[in-house]
This record gives sequence, structure tokens and C-alpha cells, in this order.
Amino acid sequence: MRKTGFVKVLLAGLVLLNVAVFLFAALDLYQSKLVYEKQAAINTQNLAQLLEKSISGLVDKIDLILLVSVDETQRQMATGRIDAKKLNGFLQLQNQRVPDIFTLRITNEKGDLRNGSDFSELLAVNYADRDFYLQQRDNPNIGLFVAKPVLGKTTHKWLLPFSRRINKADGSFGGVVIGTICLEHINELFSAVDIGPRDSLSLRDGDMGFIATSAGVQLEGEPVGNKMLSAPFAAVLKDNPKQGTYISGITSIDHISRTHSYRKFAKYPFYINSGVAEETYLAGWRKQVWETVALTFAFMLSSAIFLYLLVRLMRRQHANENALYQQKEYLQAIIESEPECVKVIAADGSLVDMNPSGLAMLEVDDLKEAQQLRLLAFVDPAYRQAFIDLFASVFAGNSGTLEFPIKGKKGTVRWLDTHATPLRDKQGKVVNLLGVTRDITERRLLQQELERQAHIDYLTGVNNRGYFIQLAESELARAKRYSSNLSIFMIDIDFFKQVNDLHGHKVGDEVLKKLTEVCRVALREVDIMGRVGGEEFAILLPETNKADATEVAERLRAAIAEAQVPMENGLPIEFTVSIGVSSLETKDDNLDVLLNHADKALYQAKDTGRNKVCVEIR
Ligand code: GH3
Ligand code: MG
Ligand code: MG
Repeated sequence: MRKTGFVKVLLAGLVLLNVAVFLFAALDLYQSKLVYEKQAAINTQNLAQLLEKSISGLVDKIDLILLVSVDETQRQMATGRIDAKKLNGFLQLQNQRVPDIFTLRITNEKGDLRNGSDFSELLAVNYADRDFYLQQRDNPNIGLFVAKPVLGKTTHKWLLPFSRRINKADGSFGGVVIGTICLEHINELFSAVDIGPRDSLSLRDGDMGFIATSAGVQLEGEPVGNKMLSAPFAAVLKDNPKQGTYISGITSIDHISRTHSYRKFAKYPFYINSGVAEETYLAGWRKQVWETVALTFAFMLSSAIFLYLLVRLMRRQHANENALYQQKEYLQAIIESEPECVKVIAADGSLVDMNPSGLAMLEVDDLKEAQQLRLLAFVDPAYRQAFIDLFASVFAGNSGTLEFPIKGKKGTVRWLDTHATPLRDKQGKVVNLLGVTRDITERRLLQQELERQAHIDYLTGVNNRGYFIQLAESELARAKRYSSNLSIFMIDIDFFKQVNDLHGHKVGDEVLKKLTEVCRVALREVDIMGRVGGEEFAILLPETNKADATEVAERLRAAIAEAQVPMENGLPIEFTVSIGVSSLETKDDNLDVLLNHADKALYQAKDTGRNKVCVEIR
């Protein structure tokens, strides 16, 4: 739940970041576009200015040629006669000086073409209907007159005529000098300007009629004299008749969006308009757009991939954690329900965990109580060292087992069998001890019972021969080690055959039981008794010298003699025993020697009347 929340926040953050990047990129592109547009405007303004200067310069030169030609004509007229050949040559020479001039011609006062730089081809033409003729004739002080383009009468080409008036000596109208520029030539001049194929240059007359355009501009219908204006141009022109800049958009004449700058010529009735196509001036910007779009997209894509990978990683982690959690739950369920004690002990010996079965063995209420009491306190003191040794061995990396008794909090003694194994961390370092412990009390008791049964005579409950010898050997060794006294009795019932014969084997058994009963009462706890033959018993008395032993034997004999075995029918049975006594005297005495000596003393007692005690004679 918490993680999904985190992913959501992360997702929102990334989306915001992407939106911010997108907005930033868009703003940057917008501002960059403004810069490009501004630059385009400046470029067109500069070009328009440059072209105004250059075209004005050309017109200045043409005017100069016209003036020189007027002067020459008037000079010749003043002499009374015009030398046609000479004047034609003069005009030709002038034309050569300014080759931009297509024709340089002169009419008389009636408008008839009389002289020209191209006179050899001249036909009989009259220009009296032309604007340049009428204006010059009717306005003596008009000076240079720039007429609208006309279709040449002889050349059949579109021409732009520049004219000046020729005065006769009396000041009356004497004719016109006309210099023309071929509109094709202006087009050629425009073509020479280094502009893009879709950029435009156009020259218009004082009434906005087209004179010439660059090759990039496609005009519909008759181009020359067309006064068509795009709406943005018209709008800007209204407020700024001298110069201005506008963006034509697709409302331009040829439907190509451009940034235009126009200028009205200072000296001549022309307008120059320089337009750069959006395609041209935004080429760099468009490249930048693509780059920005690519970068933004790359950023978005990589952030999406990043998010995807992160979410996948978190999902996997989540799945792993789930699996781990389930495993833990599963394990916990097993441990909780496990009948054996499962415990985890830390390196400092403290109890980390213990399942309910373990707590029940310790007879504590909960883990906390077990932790407070500490484990070692429950262990039988005789086994604590072994317990500590096992603990150390496990933390040294080994596994091990130990059987030991514990005493629960309520006092119940239990035998436990524990299997301890190291729990390691990722680096393999032993961090905890895992102990699985079984309650083996029952098995232990059974074992003890079996052992007891193996050592005990079933009829009388005293040690059997084998176990008596075993106990006697260790007691003898101890006595020798500490140089203490030790004595042995050999006891044999007198005329026992007769008991059997007279009263039956069962009664005989009762006699045997009675004998051991009397002995148990008469003897000390430390004395060891064994049934070494059918009706023969041996008794070992630690810390007892021969004299004392003899006394004990005598007392025992007397007690037996007084004992009675009750009978179901008739009087109780009485019986006697003979006893042989031997004692430890030298270091060389072994059990065989002592038993042998006691046996001999016993035979002596039998031989000398029975129901008596005889002491060995060495
Ligand atoms: P003595 O005074 O010389 O010892 O005479 P005795 O009859 O006691 O002779 P002995 O010691 O040789 O007798 C051994 C008898 O003990 C033989 C056997 O029938 C009997 N006996 C041995 N073991 C048992 C037993 O477990 N139960 C019974 N009822 N009798 C046994
Ligand atoms: Mg016997
Ligand atoms: Mg006997």
C-alpha cells in the first residue's frame, strides 16, 4: 500500500517534470522563433535599404546620361542644325557608359523619333501619345520624369522610361531624351542578388504598380502595373507610407508566407519590397524544433523507461518480500505447532526466541519470563559445563548434540536431548544458535529401569552377582586408594534343601526374600549386598574392619535366626544362616581373594555346626 503510494507520487513527479520540460522547450522555441523573425525583419530591411541605394544610384547615372544628352542636343540645335550621325554616335557612346540603359533616344517637338543609341534599327515611330512626351511637353520644369512601364513600340519589350525635356534656344519645347531600362534587366539584377529561391524582391512604381519582381514571385495574370497588395502590406502601408515591415502570411500574392520590409525611395517614385520566405528564415529554427522535439521526446521516453523499470523493480521486490513473508509465516506455523522445543540463542547467550513447546518444558508462561530467568539456570548443574561447551562449539561453526536434565520452574525434572546447529548470516558468520530439543524423560526412565533390572535379582531385589562384583570392585579400589577398611560376608542358608523339600520351592523363595529383608534392616545404606548363588549372598561393608565386621555378622546372624516366615497353614518357618567374614588386609588383596577367604570361613562355619559366624584365618 505504502509502496503504491510512493510510485504514485513518483509518477506525478515525473509527469510534472515532463510537463515542465515540455513547457520550457516550447517557451524556448517560441522565444527562439521571435529572434529568427526579428533577424529576418532586420535582414529584409537591410536588403531593401541596399537595393534603394543601388537602384537610386543607377537612376542617378541614367539621369546624368540624359542631362549630358540634352546638353549635346541643345548645343547642336544652337548651331542651327543637328548632325544626326554625330548625335547618334554620341548617344551610343553614352549608352555604352551605362550599359543598364536599354535604349537612349531623342524625339523632336512633335514626338517623332529622330535619334538614338540604336538608330540603325530605328523605324518611323511617334511618341506623342506617351506619357513621358506629354509630361515633358506640358511641364517645362518637370526635370527628370519617371514614367510607368510601357510596352516598347519598336522593341516590343516592357520598358521603364526616364525622360528629360529638350528646349529650343528660345526656351520652347524642342523634344525629349528618353533612356529606358528593360524590365527584364531589372529582373536579372534581382536574380543576381543572393536570396533564397522562395524569397522575393519587387519594385513598384509610385502608385504601387508592379515594375519588376524576382524570379521567386509567381504573379497571376499580367504582372506589370498590377497594383495588388496583400492585406498585411496594405494595412502597414496605410500607417507607415515610407517604410515598414510585415509578415504576409499565406495572404501574400503567391500564397507564400514571408517577412517583408518595404521602402519608399527618397528621390524617385519607387517602392522596393524585400521578402524572405518563412521557409528560408525559419530553416534554422525548424532544425532547432526538430532537435528540441527529439530531445524532449528522448527525455520523456527515458523517464518513462526509468519509471517502468523502477515500478518493475519495486513490484519484484514486493513479490520477493511477499514470498519471504509467506515463508516466514509458514516456518512460524511449523515452529509454533512443533511438539519439540525450538529455540534460537544469540552469541551472548541470551534467548532470542522459543516456541510454545519449549516454554512448556521450562514451565514458564511466556518468552519474556524464560529470557529473564536465563536458560542455564534450568540446566542441571552437573551438565552446565557440557551445555556451555556445546554452545561454544556451535558458535565455532559445528553442530552438536547433548542429553541433559533440566528442572522446570515448577520443579519438574525432565531429560532433554538437544540438537544444536549454527545459524549464519549472508557472509557465513555464525550469528545465532538454533536448538531443537526433545523431551526424552520417558526413554531415560525406561533405560534406567532396564539398567536397574539388569543389575537386580528379580526375586529378592538385591544386586545380582555380576553387578555386585562390579560395585564391589570399585568400592575395593576406592578403599585401597584411601587405605580404608573393608570387609566382606559370605552368607549361606543352613539346610535350605530341606525347606524346599518340606514346604515347597515357593516357600523357599519366601525365605530368600525374608533373608534380604532382615539384611536391609540390619545393614547400613552404604553396605552392598548381592545374591551371588542360589541361596548364597555376599555383603560388602565399606569402612569396616574385621572386628566390627564380625560384630555386625553376629548381629545379623542373630536377627536372621529370629526372623519368621509366616505360613498360610501351620506355624511360621524359622531358619538360620552361616556367615564367613574376610577383610581387606594388604594391597595385594583383590576381590577374588577376599571372596575366597570369606567362602572358606563360611565352610568352616558350616563344618563347625552351622548358624554361626566364622572369620577367616590368615
Ligand atoms: P547346607 O546347610 O550345607 O548349606 O545345606 P543345604 O541344604 O542348604 O545345601 P546347599 O547349600 O547345597 O543347598 C542349595 C539348595 O538351595 C539347592 C536348591 O534346591 C536350593 N535353591 C537354590 N536356589 C533356590 C531358589 O532360588 N529357590 C529355592 N526355593 N531354592 C533354591
Ligand atoms: Mg548353598
Ligand atoms: Mg545352604
